[in-house]
Amino acid sequence: MGESPVTELAVRGRQLHADLVLDTEAVVVGTGAGGSIALRELARAGIDAVALEEGGYHTTADFNQREERMLALLFQEQGGRTTEDLAIRILQGRGVGGSTIHNTNLCKRIPDAILSAWADDFGLGDVRPEVLAPSFARIEADLSVSEIPAADRNANNEVLRLGAERLGWRGGPLKHNRVGCQRSGFCELGCSYDAKQNALKIVLPQAAAAGARIYADVRATRIHVEGGRVTGLEGVVLGENGEHIANARIRAKVVVLAASATGSAALALASGVPDPHDQIGRGLHVHPGAAVAGIFDRTLASYDGIPQSYECTEFLSFERGSDRRVWIVPAFAHPIGAASALPGFGASHMRAMRDYGKLAVLTALVHDETEGRVVLGAGDRPKIRYVMNDADRAQLGKGLVACARILFAAGARDVVIPAVFPHRMREPGELDRLDTGFVRPHELPLTAVHPMGTMRMGTDPKRSVVGPTGEHHHVRGLFVADGSLFPTSIGGPPQIGIYTLALHLAHHIIARARSS
Ligand SMILES: Cc1cc2nc3c(=O)[nH]c(=O)nc-3n(C[C@H](O)[C@H](O)[C@H](O)COP(=O)(O)OP(=O)(O)OC[C@H]3O[C@@H](n4cnc5c(N)ncnc54)[C@H](O)[C@@H]3O)c2cc1C
Repeated sequence: MGESPVTELAVRGRQLHADLVLDTEAVVVGTGAGGSIALRELARAGIDAVALEEGGYHTTADFNQREERMLALLFQEQGGRTTEDLAIRILQGRGVGGSTIHNTNLCKRIPDAILSAWADDFGLGDVRPEVLAPSFARIEADLSVSEIPAADRNANNEVLRLGAERLGWRGGPLKHNRVGCQRSGFCELGCSYDAKQNALKIVLPQAAAAGARIYADVRATRIHVEGGRVTGLEGVVLGENGEHIANARIRAKVVVLAASATGSAALALASGVPDPHDQIGRGLHVHPGAAVAGIFDRTLASYDGIPQSYECTEFLSFERGSDRRVWIVPAFAHPIGAASALPGFGASHMRAMRDYGKLAVLTALVHDETEGRVVLGAGDRPKIRYVMNDADRAQLGKGLVACARILFAAGARDVVIPAVFPHRMREPGELDRLDTGFVRPHELPLTAVHPMGTMRMGTDPKRSVVGPTGEHHHVRGLFVADGSLFPTSIGGPPQIGIYTLALHLAHHIIARARSS
């Protein structure tokens, strides 16, 4: 391949002493799962390509396992991003490597039933399971995806396995993209041991070795379109405290949006990209989830080890119209995260935290039908409108009850659903009488880490933003290559699907960059 090793992956904003002005063939916005692959494939095809990343360039040495520092460093809005009504916390990454830096490394393909539904309902014949299979396999090989060995299952995951098995419920081990894992349990704060085979460690260095240039601390602010063709974009260079220190102007005949399902839509909206059918920003899915805690009589130290290695799929089906739309996995939190989720104040909160080491925590995530919307907020940042519909709330209620049953079955002494008015149960019979009407915004802390949709792919411009090649229906040279592409929720971890779709679409992007 003729690629040479890279020492310094990205240029930081503070290293730029003047405006960033470039004339290039292709520019990629965002360096997460989708952006890294698009950049690598362009560079490997000999295309002059640059990537802009609004977040900083941080390396393993920066990941110090401190929640208070890492949340601010690695997450959008310092970990404080929420839906517009403040009901759902939305966690997304910001920085070179995007959300792949702090994700929990679960690797699953987009289910065949979902791909088939996309093909049938959105005209995406080319994303059928058998067509995508080689791209999935290549991504899995690139990222060293493997099944997490049973020996590496920590106590929290063992509780899930045991409880589900005792109930006779379907479940199994998960796959991940870690090599040399030390089982420290700090994946969500960035890996200090560099065991994550993610965009930062694997894909972006390959892109840079093939000649791509990566600029950190550069936020794209406007896409330029002339006569139905993209001509480049402009942006701002940010200093160490997020201050505007210079401007960026990039001329390019291809612009690839990979700023995530919130960032790409916000940038397209701010730029006034043609949108005759008012589609940009629509169709947002997030897999909203909530947690249930079990208190055991023994110490579990659930914070120790690989956070998620086992799943319960008893209530998950991908068939259209299914009323089994919840995915159950462990969800243990670091101390600050746990303290903010556990109910009570003062002495009662202190008592709850004393049980920290004895807790097992599970989460139910909804394979959501609710369609939210990204609109423009202050400073053209994404504003997320998303209010769960009744059917999804019912699914979540069902999922939380199932989590509680699993915890009891595994031997929990008490089970707590940490709603605003916490529901504490001492035996499974109480679940039969539980009114899950509290599963509603503001009565239950909700979190979502999988934004998808907003620049959906499809053949019909009235229901989608980009065509089956990933190119905008009305703007030549403008492509999308991130989670925005998904026409629906996928009901499971999306990173492999995003990496794979970016790879699958890359030859269209390359062909456009080569065309005059
Ligand atoms: C806590 C957590 C755990 C997760 N665990 C898993 C898991 O185990 N398995 C899994 O499959 N998925 C997981 N995910 C989700 C997964 O990481 C994301 O779905 C995936 O990385 C999204 O890829 P993307 O390319 O769409 O965007 P991202 O990876 O989010 O990258 C987008 C990048 O664009 C940048 N950007 C945004 N706007 C601009 C702009 N205007 N200019 C320049 N740059 C911009 C952002 O800073 C960001 O770096 C998790 C996510 C979180 C938050």
